[in-house]
Formats: sequence, C-alpha cells, structure tokens
Amino acid sequence: MKPATQFIHAGAHPDPTTGAIMTPIFQTSTYVQEAPATHKGYEYARSQNPTRTALEEALAIIEQGKYGLAFSSGVAATDAVIKLLNPGDEVICANDMYGGTYRLFTKIFERFGIVFKPVDTTNAENVAAAVTSNTKLVWLETPTNPLMNITDIEAVAAITKKNNLILVVDNTFASPALQNPLTLGADIVMHSATKYLGGHSDVIQGALVMNSAELREKLYFIQKSCGAVPGPMDCFLVLRGIKTLGVRMKAHCENGAIIAHWLHNHPKVAKVYWPGFEDHPGHAAAKKQMRDFGGMISFELKNDSLDEVKRVLSKTHLFSLAESLGGVESLVNHPASMTHASIPREERIKNGLRDSLIRLSVGIEDAEDLIKDLDQAIG
Ligand SMILES: *Cc1c(COP(=O)(O)O)cnc(C)c1O
Repeated sequence: MKPATQFIHAGAHPDPTTGAIMTPIFQTSTYVQEAPATHKGYEYARSQNPTRTALEEALAIIEQGKYGLAFSSGVAATDAVIKLLNPGDEVICANDMYGGTYRLFTKIFERFGIVFKPVDTTNAENVAAAVTSNTKLVWLETPTNPLMNITDIEAVAAITKKNNLILVVDNTFASPALQNPLTLGADIVMHSATKYLGGHSDVIQGALVMNSAELREKLYFIQKSCGAVPGPMDCFLVLRGIKTLGVRMKAHCENGAIIAHWLHNHPKVAKVYWPGFEDHPGHAAAKKQMRDFGGMISFELKNDSLDEVKRVLSKTHLFSLAESLGGVESLVNHPASMTHASIPREERIKNGLRDSLIRLSVGIEDAEDLIKDLDQAIG
C-alpha cells in the first residue's frame, strides 16, 4: 500500500462489539478477568490499552516497521531508549538537536554514568572516529531542530552495522510522510507525536518504531515498568491526526518552499536554513532520503540585534509566537530564548545557533496570507 492509503487505514479495524469505524477511547484502568490470569489480552491499562494498541499498530505501518510503542511524550520515548543502556556505555549524538533531548542526556542520564559524545554527524566520518569499545548507541536527528542540518542516514547506518551499535533517528521534523529511517538502516525511529503526527497542537505524545523483536521486548518492558504511557484520549487524537498526515505534509511542504524562496529574496534577510535549497550543504542527502523538504525554516536578519529580532517576533499575527511545531497553524519561535534555552549559550554558538536565529513552523494556511504577515513584520 502507498503511504497516502496507509495513513488512513493503518491500525483501523471496526470495533468488534459495535462495528464503530473509529477505534473507541477505552477510558479504563483495568479489565475484568474470567478466572485468574484468564483474560482477553488486556489486564491493566499501564501495560495494554486497546486504543493504544491500535495506535501502535498504525505507527509501525506508517514508519515501514514491525513494532510501534507509544509514550506520554517525545522525551519519554527518548528516555525509554536510553534506559536500554548501562553505566559506562557511550552514546554518540548529534551536536545540533532538540534542546530537551540535550537536557535529558546531559542533566539526567550523565548523572547515571552514561557518556554522551556530541559530534557533527553531517559528516559520517566524525561518527566513525568517535566510536570506542564502550560505544553502544548513535542518536541522530535529521533534519535538525533548529538549524536544518541533514545527516546521511545510510552512511551512518553503515558504521553502526559494522560496529554493532544501535542507530536511533529522531524523525520528528520529517515525519513518516517524508522520511522512513528504518528503510535506510536505522534500528529505532523516535517521534515527538506532539508535532506532525498529532498535527493539531492539541496533544503531547511520543513514539518509537522498530523491526527487531528483541528491541521491541526490551522497550515494551521499559514502557510498562517505567510507566510513561499515553492516555487513551491522547492515543485517539494521534490516530485521528495520522489520517490527514499525507495531505497536511503536502501542504506544509508547498507553503514551506514558497516561504523559503520568498525569505531568500528578501533584502532584509541574511540567511535562510532550508534543505530544499541547492546550496544547502545537506541538499544531496536530503534529496536522496526525503520525499520532500518540509515546512520547517530558520532564518537570520541582516540587522541581527536582539532588539530587531524581538521587534519582528512581536509583530506577526498569523505566525503565533510559541514553542512547538508541526500543527496546521503557523508558529514562529526564537530558539535561543525559547526551545533551545536549555543549551548553554557557548555550546549553542559553537554549533552555529546564533541568538538572532528565528525559526518558523509553516502551517497550511494560504501562502499569500502568510507572506503578507511576514512582510509587514520584517518591514
Ligand atoms: C518536540 C521535540 C521533541 C520532544 O518531544 P515532546 O513531545 O515535546 O516531549 C524531540 N525531538 C524533536 C525534534 C522535537 O521537536
């Protein structure tokens, strides 16, 4: 089946008791057993819930994987993956990634003796050079939040396969509509389902998808033992969001391309970060591994004083100033003071994230209206 069909039908089975076409919200904490340990596969809702089962099946199908697991947030999904490791194990991670991932790695897991080595993963040789006998896992994000750096997943997968490492890709920015890392050699795909999968800025959720039954068993054990599971209502919302993922992503990409080019030609704009430009350093890899370039764009103004940046950020109307991304409505964000404030300033600057950077999550409104809004704000 083609993705557009999968988004609508994955995980959907009419409810056996009523025929309801949509999976009901099973708002229950426990399930009545016929006799001790004789039940219908559901015992207690931390371990299993039918709404979650339907979603997990859908997640696996749309990521071209075998198994899906849903979590109460994207960072809870990341947390579960790192709990596969033991003290002393090393993780090679991207030096430009979501601020919350960086915070979880450095502020929580380093205290438990796990070692994180940030490298510029856009060059796979840097990953190969960082591998030691203690390395267990490589954590990629592509495109990255917020600099839109692209890592060649296949090139890194060749290194992780050779060294017997687990390769994880945070696929939040691309969504399964644009990129399927498992088909490129990744072992685990992670999503903040809060973003494009949910798609309507009304739910916090995370997801993991994998092919290995062994990894699935270990991660399911962590999911039920640590308990960061999503509620049934949230699972329903993400299932519903996935149905329109195909058409939404098409619109996000169309608007993204129009706005990226418009910004590029704007006299007051110094630099635009968007992988669709032919001179973007990751363009070739993006073209190879993505179906389109997405609706996330970052840019810098020629006048990069913080006052000017703040002036622009306070003048948009359709682009709401807010954290998060991937919803139908357009958002604008100032990474240095908002989404990425948890990364120390020197670290941010070293990795190319300047205080003046503005990030857009281009929604699916009319592109002309969005441009008018940006035009009056940039002035
Ligand atoms: C938002 C985000 C996360 C974290 O997900 P939550 O649902 O907010 O916990 C992880 N990675 C990326 C790329 C994100 O944008």
